[in-house]
Amino acid sequence: MIPRLKGTDDILPPESARWRRLLRGFDDLAARYGYDLVLMPVLEATELFARGVGADTEVVQKQMYTFEDRGGRSVTLRPEFTAGIVRAYVEAGGTGVMKVAASGPQFRYEQPQKGRRRQFHQVDLEYLGEPGPRADIEVIEMSHRLLAEAGVPGITVHLNSIGDASDRATYRDLLRDFLHGVANELSPDSRRRMDDNPLRVLDSKVDKDVVAAAPVPLDHLGAETAAHFAAVRSGLDAAGIGYEIAPRLVRGLDYYNRTVFEVFSPAFEAAQSSLGGGGRYDPLGELIGSRLPVPGVGVAMGCDRIVAAMPDLESPRLDVFVAVAGAAREDVASSWVRRLRAEGLRVDWAGGDRSLKSQFKAADRSGAAAVAVIGDEWERGEVRVKSMATGEEVTMDIEEAVAWLHR
Ligand code: AMP
Repeated sequence: MIPRLKGTDDILPPESARWRRLLRGFDDLAARYGYDLVLMPVLEATELFARGVGADTEVVQKQMYTFEDRGGRSVTLRPEFTAGIVRAYVEAGGTGVMKVAASGPQFRYEQPQKGRRRQFHQVDLEYLGEPGPRADIEVIEMSHRLLAEAGVPGITVHLNSIGDASDRATYRDLLRDFLHGVANELSPDSRRRMDDNPLRVLDSKVDKDVVAAAPVPLDHLGAETAAHFAAVRSGLDAAGIGYEIAPRLVRGLDYYNRTVFEVFSPAFEAAQSSLGGGGRYDPLGELIGSRLPVPGVGVAMGCDRIVAAMPDLESPRLDVFVAVAGAAREDVASSWVRRLRAEGLRVDWAGGDRSLKSQFKAADRSGAAAVAVIGDEWERGEVRVKSMATGEEVTMDIEEAVAWLHR
């Protein structure tokens, strides 16, 4: 027996039922907001993430699955969607607005624990080509709505603005000065970062107390970024989406500017508890070689964590389980099952070579709302139908039974 690799999961029934609900919900949500489907390569050139995500980030330095392929190129299993999607937009000669939704596995070599896997699944939304706050508002609203519709309780949005590069030039000096002042108290990681990447020190978990008094980007926004952030806030207010300002939230990747956010729920408690996060990444396109700027906002939601925060639904898995009395009625049953499925009902059956008792057991296990028995009555144009919820059993005309099953 060869077991699965550490940090990877087999997602099997019955747990996979919640996955199906989440992924369908995501697909439906994306369609309602006008996001088209994109299917992205799992393998990308390592350079894409090194330049896009940032060579000094945790993801690139410590977590990528990078290897040389047989042609001697350095390739990487994608650790995230955004850089690949922006690459695809630029490569396709993208201009104007493109709103897309993607879903699939990501790979990061992490220390596995609850909610922190080496292969994990994300659903992702990207709103490209829109510099205005409408994109930020829409993406945050959708992140909230995805969770709300999945039944995740107590959703909290943490929101911040980290400004533009021009706002940050003076701010970084202030922050650096502050960090140098407290350097003795900082962790080695933060001390190493404080000159090249001081912003990252702000959301360091280990240095939380030391940086509590640090200056924050929000207090140093330029007029334009401040107005952008104010518009995002009032848009969220108008959408009825509550949020908390999180002045030290910067997110770990280099490509963000202006709006950044994360989404939490108390239903998922773990060391790493964010269910999703994203923000605006206007600098990303040029970081990966686009001649034109590519304004955009996106979010990636972690499905493994969301599913763990979703309630189990008691709703039946099938509309009807069809039981067959006697192998001789197998063909009749088979074509009736086909008809019901073609009409959109969720139907399963076990076949007439098994005893009715064993078929009823299978029906019970199947989580069907009803059982329909094809027996002697069939010859008179009737079928016996039993509601699993009430135990009530009625013999009905076949067409009547079909209508009843559809209700
Ligand atoms: P990030 O871009 O790292 O903030 O990731 C966005 C979301 O993906 C997070 O909020 C998590 O829900 C999820 N996520 C990130 N890394 C992992 C991981 N190693 N295992 C499971 N989920 C993850």
